[in-house]
Amino acid sequence: MATAAPTLDKHAILARYQAERDKRLRADGNDQYVEVAGQYAHYLVDPYMPVVPRAPLTDHVTFAMVGGGFAGLCVGARLVEAGITDVRIIDKAGDFGGNWYWNRYPGAQCDTASIIYLPLLEETRHMPTEKYAHAPEILEQSRRIGRTFGLYDKALFHIRVDDIVWDETRSVWVITTDRGDKFTADYVATGTGPLHVPKLPGIPGLDSFKGHGFHTSRWDYEYTGGDTNGAPLSKLKDKRVAIIGTGATAVQVVPHLARAGGTVYVVQRTPSSVDARGNAPTDLAWFKSIATPGWQKRWLDNFARNIAIGLPPEEDLVQDGWTNIMGRIRERVLTLPMDQITPASILAVYEDAEIEKMSEVRARAEAIVHDKETAEKLKAWYRQWCKRPCFHDAYLQAFNEPGTHLIDTDGKGVERIDETGLWVNGIHYEVDCIIYASGFEVGTSHQRRAGFDMAGVGGKRLSQAWADGMQTLHGLHVHGFPNAFIVQIAQAANFGANVPHNWTDAGETIAAVVSHARDTGRRIVEPTPQAQAEWVALIKTGMPSFVGAVAECTPGYYNLEGTSADISGFLPSGYPLGSVAYFEYIDNWRRSGDFTGLAFS
Ligand code: NDP
Repeated sequence: MATAAPTLDKHAILARYQAERDKRLRADGNDQYVEVAGQYAHYLVDPYMPVVPRAPLTDHVTFAMVGGGFAGLCVGARLVEAGITDVRIIDKAGDFGGNWYWNRYPGAQCDTASIIYLPLLEETRHMPTEKYAHAPEILEQSRRIGRTFGLYDKALFHIRVDDIVWDETRSVWVITTDRGDKFTADYVATGTGPLHVPKLPGIPGLDSFKGHGFHTSRWDYEYTGGDTNGAPLSKLKDKRVAIIGTGATAVQVVPHLARAGGTVYVVQRTPSSVDARGNAPTDLAWFKSIATPGWQKRWLDNFARNIAIGLPPEEDLVQDGWTNIMGRIRERVLTLPMDQITPASILAVYEDAEIEKMSEVRARAEAIVHDKETAEKLKAWYRQWCKRPCFHDAYLQAFNEPGTHLIDTDGKGVERIDETGLWVNGIHYEVDCIIYASGFEVGTSHQRRAGFDMAGVGGKRLSQAWADGMQTLHGLHVHGFPNAFIVQIAQAANFGANVPHNWTDAGETIAAVVSHARDTGRRIVEPTPQAQAEWVALIKTGMPSFVGAVAECTPGYYNLEGTSADISGFLPSGYPLGSVAYFEYIDNWRRSGDFTGLAFS
């Protein structure tokens, strides 16, 4: 494989980054996307499981959890472990799994090593079969958690929450749904995830196409043939297919489309950086040697430490693409003489390390793709973290297939769609099917994505409580919303490439708080206004924790399409000292048993 050129012209590279970014900036920013509703609502229909009719529920549960993905499962599991078994998980999908329920496209696979990405492996006694598990195994792990902890008993699927309202007289949450349910719960939590509402590109003529079309998160195997286990997409053999988008999803899908043997147009606006993947089956003997009691927590902690900047190096157990990138950056930072360590010098060496890595990734495209022009167009010209890094050993290779064509739009996107296909650079491509790998809503309001807006004490909506910015204690508790937990990453450990770690940790906190209330005979718990204000003030002392979430980056969902990285963006602020410090802090807080900042009554 080719390696980076020995000398890199940093100035020229940064100038190219800037030029490519400027080319892509659009006045309409995030509004360029079309909400999947109204005439497009059919793109949301569940192709995997039928909706089973049932009578509306009007009962009471101890704990209601909105979201049956990893967040909801981790919370549910930890509650059950703590003896709180009356847990109802609610989801719009037909089963547990969250994103892994919906994303069953061919080739779907985790990008973080399964051994830390799959939650609760130790508790469910499952050994991941591969370093990077494929989607069916991840979905099955979700179901396994559901079965292991008895979470299916009370779960409700294929429902959308309409409203969640605090009833002050009875001290319960009242939950209403689109299936006519009106049940109550002592506690409620939301774990609705950041990337679950598909979006469509706002291409003129989008609705005029007369061929077939679907979003990658609702893969139509009826149309394509094949299955989620990777069987060939046999029905595409004689078809012309365009896939719009070249993000992390498309990178996994394209090799399968290419193998189907038909004509494939990969429509690119911005190339992804695609580094080597290096998947391998898990060695049973090796797994047995590491799987001693407490192993997954040790591995989670080790990964968190290895992707943190500024911490001393320690053995990299996980050794995946993320620890590789971050290890390289950390090595550079640690070469700085002590008296020269400043935020500016750290950012400068960070930039150098990124440039080096991205140069290698660009060289990789050149080494793999035979056609030089295509290889050039597949090179990503932006800072590594401006877009989500991708890893794949068959994506770039797919462009060597005779039927697979890169349609590069030079940053401008598809010109228009018509009845028979699409237009790029004045050329018409006639196709039978358009697959939208156009991603998910980010930066639209939480209420729009979740579909509800909780009402706490005095009927105050969460959107009102957060009108001037997010206000929480530990990113989880909100004053005025008693017995409620918002499970998400901001104002807490934030983003660390392995979000399931955040969820297992949040689950522990919630179980500890609810157990404490139960054990001390208290019915209501909420943060004090003072503790919440102090926490928010502390969060504001930190730097934006993610270098990609800056307006100077190439537009994408990390920076609200090049507009900003403000608090409503994808990756807002976290604990100023980083995720490792947050996990340590919160662990001590839980263990102390004082629950400082929370008022129990
Ligand atoms: P993305 O938002 O990353 O990608 C959307 C793609 O659509 C981009 O390439 C975008 O181009 C393109 N696009 C949008 N509008 C147009 C247009 N008008 N014309 C042409 N192209 C257009 O969505 P993904 O579904 O790929 O990924 C979303 C996230 O989901 C990932 O970043 C990752 O976090 C997660 N994911 C995780 C996986 C894993 O763990 N294995 C696998 C897949 C996804 P542009 O870049 O120019 O905006």
